[in-house]
Amino acid sequence: QPDAAHYGSQAALAALREHFGYESFRPGQAELIEAIASNRDVLGVMPTGSGKSVCYQIPALLLHGITIVISPLISLMRDQVDGANEIGIPAAFINTTQTMDEQEQVLDAAYAGKVKLLYVAPERLETPRFRNFAARADIALIAVDEAHCVSQWGQDFRSSYLGIGEFIASLPDRPTVAAFTATATERVRRDIVQLLGLRDPLVLVTGFDRTNLYFDMLKLNTREKANWIANYVAEHADESGIVYCATRKETEALAQTLNTLVPQLRAARGAGNAPGDVAVAYHGGMPAPTREQAQRDFVTDRTPVVVATNAFGMGIDKSNVRFVIHHNMPESIESYYQEAGRAGRDGEPSRCTLLWNESDIVTRRRLLDMGGPNERLTADEQDLVRRSKRQLLDGMIGYCRTTECLHRYMTRYFGEHDTPGTGHCAGGCVNCASTFATMDVTPVARAISMCVHDLGQHFGMGKIVAVLRGSKAQDVLARGFDRLPTYATLEGTSEAQIRDVLNQMVADGFLYIGEGRLPLVQFGPRAAETASPTFHYEIKKTERKAARTAPRT
Ligand code: ADP
Repeated sequence: QPDAAHYGSQAALAALREHFGYESFRPGQAELIEAIASNRDVLGVMPTGSGKSVCYQIPALLLHGITIVISPLISLMRDQVDGANEIGIPAAFINTTQTMDEQEQVLDAAYAGKVKLLYVAPERLETPRFRNFAARADIALIAVDEAHCVSQWGQDFRSSYLGIGEFIASLPDRPTVAAFTATATERVRRDIVQLLGLRDPLVLVTGFDRTNLYFDMLKLNTREKANWIANYVAEHADESGIVYCATRKETEALAQTLNTLVPQLRAARGAGNAPGDVAVAYHGGMPAPTREQAQRDFVTDRTPVVVATNAFGMGIDKSNVRFVIHHNMPESIESYYQEAGRAGRDGEPSRCTLLWNESDIVTRRRLLDMGGPNERLTADEQDLVRRSKRQLLDGMIGYCRTTECLHRYMTRYFGEHDTPGTGHCAGGCVNCASTFATMDVTPVARAISMCVHDLGQHFGMGKIVAVLRGSKAQDVLARGFDRLPTYATLEGTSEAQIRDVLNQMVADGFLYIGEGRLPLVQFGPRAAETASPTFHYEIKKTERKAARTAPRT
């Protein structure tokens, strides 16, 4: 005798086959659908492309009443609605591109039960006309797409999302609420649950581990990066790849370098060269026809490599990208995951390589602090946004410095737990392929911490290094820093080593780089620990033997 839940999943599976033409559910879908269909709130955190829409479209079919889909992307609504109608789910949208009459017609049809899925932008919820409709209509489910927009701790905060919770609370008969997002750290998830007013939701995080990707990472000087990339491309001439750069200028310069250097490198090895360019640049500042040509050349495999800013990739569907190389450290794990994740969409083994160095970190911090004022936000809100971006950046810096499995670092960042019995590094990563030498740097860390105290948290990294190494520079002596207790206490330690330890201490929360034009070194939340007699601090040696010899993918 099948129980109700079982019957529910049978109905869901039948709907999946009948309307979508798929044989089985992807991870997480069945659980989410079942919960929604039995009127439980959910928060589904799944990567882009993993099939979140199915998770509210099938309940929309199974439940009696209307499903309202709140989505911030007006430009995509028509496609989503057309798509749903095509597979036999009556759908419509209401937005500002319609006349009042058209909007009225849609609401009438929905009220009459002729619409199962109604797409609206969050701003719509505040209009009296919609409120009036919602108070009378039979609403079974509210699906909130891109739910992370409700949180100021994410990257895409939208103040209009803050009205959703109140809208739901205003309904006479509270419907089930299902929130979905592709990116949500612990903090953002808490915000979603709280601000949307989810009740005892099933929170499911799944699908983030891309097991066909090998995660590589190398710390290289800016000068070495272009050469490394040229060598990589020369060795993988038959593969398609994306190289991400931080600036438009860099994309053009690097594409040019690759087009000269790669044929030379291949000729020197006695390998043949294909006619045409190896690489093409792509960025938002190019004239549209040039940009579209670049994209076409890459997608049709005429040019194997595209060197791009992060403007590249949105909506580009190329499944056989075998490598993604980052020329610089991105601003967050979210960005890195999304960009690197464009490799291996076909499920074949592919490689993601992150090239970084300390100056990338400095640059990223500076860019954040320079971010111009946003007129739509109050000073407090701007401060919060800046702090949250700092935190996102710290997550990225942590990725560069960790000795942990990179797959695991990433899935844990997104809040996904290891599935028992699965090897957590199925695709492989440079950390699992390496053995690390760790170095005890306790005395260095202690000295740095005391020096920050001596300088009253009022100076930058350069001054700290100068004081600790006993610099005789004019400005050090003129300020009387040679009389500080920590002056010259690390005379025999190299500048690079002190900077390494200091940066690691920032990443670990012992120190904090202040915001503002001058990056002052200040104490972080864990600063007090450095004064404890049991304080012990290690860093990994930056050399990774395995990095250059890791298995070819
Ligand atoms: P998301 O909203 O998470 O970015 P979509 O809902 O757009 O993802 O789904 C991405 C693609 O995956 C769509 O083409 C969708 O039809 C497909 N898809 C969804 N569920 C399944 C499934 N169970 N089996 C196969 N394909 C699926």
